[in-house]
Order: sequence, then C-alpha cells, then structure tokens
Amino acid sequence: MAESATILDSYLAKTPRSAALARAARAALPGGIVTDTRYFEPYAIYIERAAGVCKWDVDGNAYLDFFGGHGANMLGHSHPVLIQAVAGAIGRGVQYAANHPLEVEMAQEVLRHFPTAGRVRFTGSGTEATLLALRLARAFTGRPKIVRFASNYHGWHDHVASGYAAQFDGSAAPGVLPEIAAQTILIRPNDTAALERAVEGFGSQIAGFIIEPLGTHFGVVPTSGIFLRQVQDAAHSIGALFILDEVLSGFRVALKGAQGVYGLAPDLTTVAKVLCGGMPGGAVVGRADILDMLDPDPSRRAGRPKVLHQGTLTGNPVSMAAGLASLREIERIDGCARANSLGALARRRLNEMAQSERLPFSWYGDFSIFHLLIGHQRADSIDPKRNLETFLARPQPQTNRLRMALNVLGFDVNTKCSGLLSAVHTEEHVEQLVTGIAAAAAMLKREGLL
Ligand code: PMP
Repeated sequence: MAESATILDSYLAKTPRSAALARAARAALPGGIVTDTRYFEPYAIYIERAAGVCKWDVDGNAYLDFFGGHGANMLGHSHPVLIQAVAGAIGRGVQYAANHPLEVEMAQEVLRHFPTAGRVRFTGSGTEATLLALRLARAFTGRPKIVRFASNYHGWHDHVASGYAAQFDGSAAPGVLPEIAAQTILIRPNDTAALERAVEGFGSQIAGFIIEPLGTHFGVVPTSGIFLRQVQDAAHSIGALFILDEVLSGFRVALKGAQGVYGLAPDLTTVAKVLCGGMPGGAVVGRADILDMLDPDPSRRAGRPKVLHQGTLTGNPVSMAAGLASLREIERIDGCARANSLGALARRRLNEMAQSERLPFSWYGDFSIFHLLIGHQRADSIDPKRNLETFLARPQPQTNRLRMALNVLGFDVNTKCSGLLSAVHTEEHVEQLVTGIAAAAAMLKREGLL
C-alpha cells in the first residue's frame, strides 16, 4: 500500500472478505450485526478463529486481541482447560431437562467466593440476571421503584433500557412502556445529593438500588468505593435492597468480585461473563431469604410469594463445566491479580507514550481495564459527577479511525478504544500495544485527525 494511502484505504484493502460478508449480513441482519455493541463504520472485521491472545479474520489477518470477549475471556481464547471441559461436557449431552451434578458443584464454587451470599440461581445471561434481581427486589419489598445511575449498563431489558445511552431525562426508551420508565429513579453517577433526595422523596417506594461497581461501562464514568458504600447505606436506611451488578467485574477484578475488594455486602449480586468462561450463563447470588422466594415449597418462603423464574438454558451442563474449569484455573494461576497488574502497566505505559508523543490521549481505568479519553484534559483531572458527558463522548472520526488503524496494524480493542487484559497476556503484549497505539496515532496525525 502506498505511503499516501489513508487508514480507510488500508483497511478496505486488507479486509475484502469481511467487506463481502458485511454486505451479505446487511441483507439479513439489521445493521449487519447481532448486537449493537459490534457496530462499526463502514463494517467490522469478521473473525474465523481465535487462540490465546490472538484472533484471525476471514482474510487471514492476525490481531493481538484486547477486546477481551466483552470482558468474558479472563483466560484468553480457547484455553486448553476450557476446551477440555467443554468438549467433555458436550460428549455427555448438552440438555438433559434434568438436574445434574455440575449445577450443585458450580453453585458451591460461586458461593465460596461470595461469603455474604447464601444462595445462587443461574440464568441464561447477564441481562437475565439483572431482570431476575429487580423482580426479586420488588417481590421481596413489595415496592415498585428502582434507583439506577444514568449511563450504567445492566443489559437490555425494559427495566434498564431507558437512561443507559439516552433518555437521561427519565423518559422511556423506544418500545419501553412509560409506566416502567416512571418507576425508575435515574440519578447521575456519583451524585450523593441526588441519592439523598431519592431517599427522602421516595424512600418507602424504593425496592432496590442497582449499580455497576466500577462505574458506567466498567468504569468509562468512574465511581469510587466511597460512593458505592453510600449507595449501600442509602438502600439499607430505607429497607431497600442493594444490588451490585458484577456481570463484568465478578471473577475479573478478583474472584471475590468488586464487593470483596471494596468491603461491600450486597443483598443481591448479578454475575455472568467470566462466570461460565465466556459460554452462555449468568446468575443472581445473594441472601437466602430473598432468593428462597424462588423456592416452590411455601414452607421455605416464610410466607412470601413465589417468584417465577424458568429457562431452558438455565444451568446448562456445558456452561457449568466451562465455568467450573475456568474459575478453578483462574484461581490456580492467580489470574485476576495477573490481569490487574498488566492493566496498571498498560495504563501507565500508554500515558507515558501519549506524553512523550504529545498525543491528546489520556488513559484511565482500574484493575484489568484501560479506557481512552481523547482531548487535552487528563482523565484524572475531571470530576466524573460534573462531567458525565465528557467521559461518555467518543469524538468522531478520531475514535473510529484509531480503532481502524489499530486493526490495520494487527490489534483489536473495542469500538470505544477501551480494552481489557487477561491472565494470559504478558508484559510483552502490553509493550506491543503501546507501540501499536503510537503507530496508529501517527497514522491519524498524517490525516490531520490529531
Ligand atoms: N451488566 C453489566 C455490568 C454488563 O457489563 C453487561 C454486559 N456488558 C450486562 C449486565 C449484560 O450482560 P449480558 O450481555 O450477558 O446480557
């Protein structure tokens, strides 16, 4: 490719088969995609296989992967332990329509990591887990309202759809009943005064407070352990439930979750992603008296009503086998600590590089995560309470072109140019990433984008 080729020219030249697949996809799949988070202009690469820290597209290009399987891949791709567990489980049957030993073993494994919890109910995904947690909270307290934090992501169901990407005024997302949105009290992240106003104004109507422990989208809008404790205290001061959404952070920031790190005792916790090693599955973990509302035997429900929950995929034996094997492997190699120290290294080295190259980039985040803020302000100098929009902004075309340039150079990050480290990345991979981002930024500079 000529020196003068643009990032887009290089991308198009490198990915013709992905382009053809994207054209076919748009005729069958809305937007050519299967989940909103994978949308990328003009089209995203199509991956054929992955192993370790690499994935390969349909054109044969290799990518050093920092997307992290939406956060699920703590052991990278196709870890031998996972392959063995999944292959063995499939060989024994994928759907028994019956109880099976692995669900008991997995429940015990999960509860071992969450000492303040007494029960676990598996679900098919993280979205299903938060749906069930909110239903349990309403049934347990007999109250209608849920407190949520603007822009926090808890999945895509009706009770959490409004006020995630838009509707920060409390209105309903398209397709969601206004009655449901009206039962949500939407608070700006880290706004202690608004938390107090919710408690004073609606205390007796609030069933639960749900929050992402690292802040919006695993820390794009950061929060703090202090604020999390304030939310927990606010909930408990009015007899409402504190629901910690650890779908991303659970088994990633630590096997004991963010709650273990920050010393929290949620009434209910939602987990997924790492839980089943990237296979479908999630869970609600929490107080026995709340989760026992799922128990069909009235004598164990202390007079409380039965809460409905079913699911063909719930506790699927292949997912349970994958989860057990990967959680044990993460524990054996102290995988969370490894990924966390690589995350800290990546943020430090990326910031050093940005400074020495005079790039308008600031890298931030916590644990195994790195986020990018584009602009001349450093992320750590911005108050996340007052500047929600600054953290949520993804300047275009810079963000798109940076990820595209990284793809051209053989790296993948997510569409916000955030990324995740796993237990199988190494310091060498971090250095490669730093070099790759410096080279990608130089490509943006050549196009006058930085
Ligand atoms: N909650 C949080 C904090 C998440 O990060 C996600 C997924 N990104 C979900 C809920 C939804 O989980 P799932 O994609 O498994 O439905």
